[in-house]
Order: sequence, then structure tokens, then C-alpha cells
Amino acid sequence: MYPFTYKRPSNLAEALAAGRRGGRYIAGGTTLVDLMRETVERPDVVVDISGLPLRSISSAEDGGLRIGALVTMAEAAAHREVQRRYPVISEALRLSASAQLRNMASIGGNIMQRTRCSYFRDVTAACNKRAPGSGCSARDGYNRTHAILGSSSACVATHPSDVAVAFAALEARVHLTGPAGTRVVAFEDFILPPNDTPQREHATLPGELITAVDIPAHPRPLRSGYLKVRDRQSFEFALTSAAVALHLDDGVIRTAKVAAGGVGTVPWKLPAVERILVGQRPSARLWSKAAAASADGALPLKHNRFKVELLKRTVERQLRTVGEAA
Ligand code: SF4
Repeated sequence: MYPFTYKRPSNLAEALAAGRRGGRYIAGGTTLVDLMRETVERPDVVVDISGLPLRSISSAEDGGLRIGALVTMAEAAAHREVQRRYPVISEALRLSASAQLRNMASIGGNIMQRTRCSYFRDVTAACNKRAPGSGCSARDGYNRTHAILGSSSACVATHPSDVAVAFAALEARVHLTGPAGTRVVAFEDFILPPNDTPQREHATLPGELITAVDIPAHPRPLRSGYLKVRDRQSFEFALTSAAVALHLDDGVIRTAKVAAGGVGTVPWKLPAVERILVGQRPSARLWSKAAAASADGALPLKHNRFKVELLKRTVERQLRTVGEAA
């Protein structure tokens, strides 16, 4: 570790003032502290926002759900309304990290977390995300866990969050506040693909912080769930995952919200899959046909070709699971 200044503002205005001067926000600390220990990140000022009043879950104006940025992963997973209305969120959270981490990590911090690419965390390795212009060690290195969708010549790292996949499927919105005021960003625009600036991962402006994530009201009943495929059954990131939400009326799928994780540089929304599903009656053939579109555009690397087929099977299985329950 190295010297830095620690600030603990007592209100939002103080936090934003510190952020405007270049302070780095920290809540649960489950990502940033690791990165500081490894000297991947070296902020001069750390602004602890964990005492701010952003820790509630309430109804949003449109009838959806508003999850405060400082609600912990464990709290959100166990919340009655989250479980009742959006089990896909609860399941994605329960399948994330470890119980200890879920008790500390916040929802805002979860979607701000940085990649788990091992080269990113090794300060001796070339990595465009950590040191722009230095190269990408993963492209020609060991890339079994890396992205098959959304990659660029600069970076092929996956986004690690599970709940972000559920947020992408449900078309969440991120509330931000900063020196220039407040704004709301669609989730699909919040986490940025690498393109030629992989060091820029989020749509936040300097000094901005997340205050809440809104889940829109979808037609009810909405059946949903999350499937995560990984090398071991605990404390492991996804090789592939699928978040699925379906609304059926009179035996016909009227609403389909689907996204995949573990495969994309960002949580990977699957509009082609959704289009195939809407207006159809559930059947084994439909699940298979829709899932076949989930890997459209995939560009696998040397060690992760298996993800193409695994993704299709993951999506098909979760469509069947949710579709049969619906
Ligand atoms: Fe760095 Fe991205 Fe390449 Fe990993 S995949 S080494 S994070 S540039």
C-alpha cells in the first residue's frame, strides 16, 4: 500500500465537493482496496461514501423499483419486493462472490467494479485498460475466460458482474449526481464497450456518483431467473450466464427480456433472441431457435471457443426453465 488521504463526508454535498477535486469514491471497498493493494489503482484521495443516505429500496415513480446505490448485495438479494417482482436480480446476486463480500459490497460498487482479467491486475503485464497504449497481453496470452462478444483490438476482457446482466435484461436506469447536476442513463449506455479506449469503462463524468438504479415496471406477471455456469459452484465468475424475464398472456409470449454474462465486454443484451420469442407460444423448438441467435457475431479467441456453444446451451436452458414456470 502507499500513502493516501481518507475522507468521510457526512452529506452528499461534501462528497461531491471531494469528488470534484479528484477524490475517488469508495463504499464497500471490495474492489478498490484490492486494486490499491496491488497498485493497479493509486488514488491520492479516497472518499468514503458509505455513510450517505442511499441505502433504501422503494417504489419508483413509474411503478418499478428503485434500489439505492449503497444497498448491499445481500440486502438487495433478500429484499421481499426484489424477490417477488424480479427474482432474476435476487438470483444473480446470490450467485455472486461470497457471503462475506455480498455483506459488504454495494449495488453501485458492483456495477462499477473493474474487470477480473488477470493481466489487468498484474502490473508487470501489458494492458491497455490499466496502461493505455501498452498492448493487450490477453489477446495472444491465456484467454479462456475472456470475451467472445463486443471485444476490440485494444481489449477482450469480460465484464464481471452478475447483477449487471439482470439489470441489462430488465433495461434498468442508472441515476447519477455530480457537479453538473443529476441525470439518468439507460443501463445499456452506462457500461462502455472497450473500442479504442478500454480504460474508460463507465459513462460517469468526473466527480459523478451513482445514487440509485431503477428497475422499470414491466407487464405482470413477469417470470424471471438467472442461470450461471462456472468452473466451481461458489465464489467464481461466470463462464456464461443468462438472465431471462418473460411475460405471457393467453399462452403467448408478450414480453421477453434476455441478456447474457461471462461472454461480453459489457453485459450482453440479446435483442435478436427477444425478437424471436415475442408473439410466439412456448415450445422446445422455440427455445432452441431463439438460443441459437445468442452467439450471433461471436469472435472467439484461441482458448475460449467453447463459450460459443456453452452460451447457446445456457440461454436455451434458462429460457426453458423460465418459460415452463411462466
Ligand atoms: Fe488489459 Fe483488456 Fe487486454 Fe485484459 S483484455 S490485458 S484488461 S487490455
